[in-house]
Amino acid sequence: MYDLIVIGAGAGGLTSAYTANGLGKKVLLVDKGLPGGTCTWSGCMPSKALINIAKDVYAAKKYSSIDLDTAKVMRDVRDVIEEVYSHESPEILTNDGITFRKGELIKIITPKIVLVDEVEYQGKNIIISTGTSPFIPPLEGLDKINYLTNQNLFQLEKLPKSMIILGGGAIGIEMAQCLNRLETKVHLIERSSRIFIRESEELVDILSKTLIKEGVNIHANTTAVSVSQDDGVISLNVETNGVPKTIKAEALLVSIGRVPNVTNLGLDELGLKYNRKGIEVDDHLRTNIHNIYGVGDVVGPYQFSHTANYQGILAVKNIFLPLKKKVDYSDISWCTFTSPELASRGLPDPKRKETKIYSYGRSDSDRTMTKKGDIFEMRVETNHKKEILEVKILAERAGELISSLQIAAVNNLTLDKLSPVIFPHPSYSEIFGALGKKAYVDKLLHNPIIQLIKKTT
Ligand SMILES: Cc1cc2nc3c(=O)[nH]c(=O)nc-3n(C[C@H](O)[C@H](O)[C@H](O)COP(=O)(O)OP(=O)(O)OC[C@H]3O[C@@H](n4cnc5c(N)ncnc54)[C@H](O)[C@@H]3O)c2cc1C
Repeated sequence: MYDLIVIGAGAGGLTSAYTANGLGKKVLLVDKGLPGGTCTWSGCMPSKALINIAKDVYAAKKYSSIDLDTAKVMRDVRDVIEEVYSHESPEILTNDGITFRKGELIKIITPKIVLVDEVEYQGKNIIISTGTSPFIPPLEGLDKINYLTNQNLFQLEKLPKSMIILGGGAIGIEMAQCLNRLETKVHLIERSSRIFIRESEELVDILSKTLIKEGVNIHANTTAVSVSQDDGVISLNVETNGVPKTIKAEALLVSIGRVPNVTNLGLDELGLKYNRKGIEVDDHLRTNIHNIYGVGDVVGPYQFSHTANYQGILAVKNIFLPLKKKVDYSDISWCTFTSPELASRGLPDPKRKETKIYSYGRSDSDRTMTKKGDIFEMRVETNHKKEILEVKILAERAGELISSLQIAAVNNLTLDKLSPVIFPHPSYSEIFGALGKKAYVDKLLHNPIIQLIKKTT
């Protein structure tokens, strides 16, 4: 009898398994594929590998002409996948004390029995972390053509000369920019009035202009109507503001959302509740069946590797430790790895009062000015105590930069406390010194004693 059976060996499942293993529990981890999940095989790691290469190529091309070999590019991307996988292979898991089983059909038979192909395994607790798959829209003709999703994109032998990307969300935008930099002519199709509809309009507008300047064709307000493929050419019929047109390319990438992996797991027979967004869990990540928990993308609401990790640790602690904790996403952070990167921390709250937004631009960052044309935009919201609330940064390395404010915020360090910190010059982080000093002065000006002195003099 296992203490815990984890279904799905992606970010959420691996973290759950390792956390339980660390608590001295007997763990079985099962998956229909190899360990690693989306992040390793078709998500974060290969996409960032491709982005890294595209960045180097783009920078090199500014000062010289280069002969790009995209077959080598794709081989290097797969080398990255292999390196990541080598740290989470079944052999590594076994050495670390976690039993791993791969099976074609994995089904929860009862709340304490999981079937892996023909073999039944007993567990006191179960965590479901089966992730998501790409949403394939009911687009006329799509089922008759060879299209790409994140699941086969990184397996291409070489990059196509042109590509239509359906969907202007994080994946679509990251891929649009990097493929364009790698000499693929890109058409990015977005149904809404602008790309990246969920992010700050002001900052996305700047990012869109960057993509367009680099050569990405953004078709906003554009709905895909039908698609066909003839002699290696894909023709996508669209309507832009109601006007029909046809866009042609060598390849089509579908990236318009994700659907939870909830089928064939035996959930209906068990009576385990789920909806179209995924498995339903309470604040403790517990499903409606008391010893079955859910973590990661299959649960949501934020589909990131780091939230899957966070949930994995929390669910395991809630299962095995006496003190139960609720999920709290108020300090969440995330980043879209375009150039410049767009990073965020904290969630909006319209009920907040007496807040102030500190705004900084390119001319405030000496480091940014060392690179011609680079963008730097930072917005930091604080309350009257100068606690750090929402932050948005659009800049090179914004994903790293935001982490400093993330550490400060999570540890209740107010913004003014950054004032005396000496940062290296010229680093991107130097901006935090300026930000801290401004917050310090503002806090001082709002101090009742200072206000009284001001009034009486
Ligand atoms: C192109 C792309 C880029 C991304 N970039 C980033 C990024 O930069 N940063 C970030 O934080 N996130 C990124 N993400 C999201 C990130 O990959 C996911 O949030 C993360 O992988 C979720 O982990 P998970 O464990 O919930 O699911 P997954 O990693 O998807 O793992 C689920 C596992 O369950 C298995 N499984 C599924 N169904 C069954 C079944 N019926 N039986 C048994 N096993 C099953 C699968 O084989 C898989 O191994 C990206 C995603 C994509 C697609």
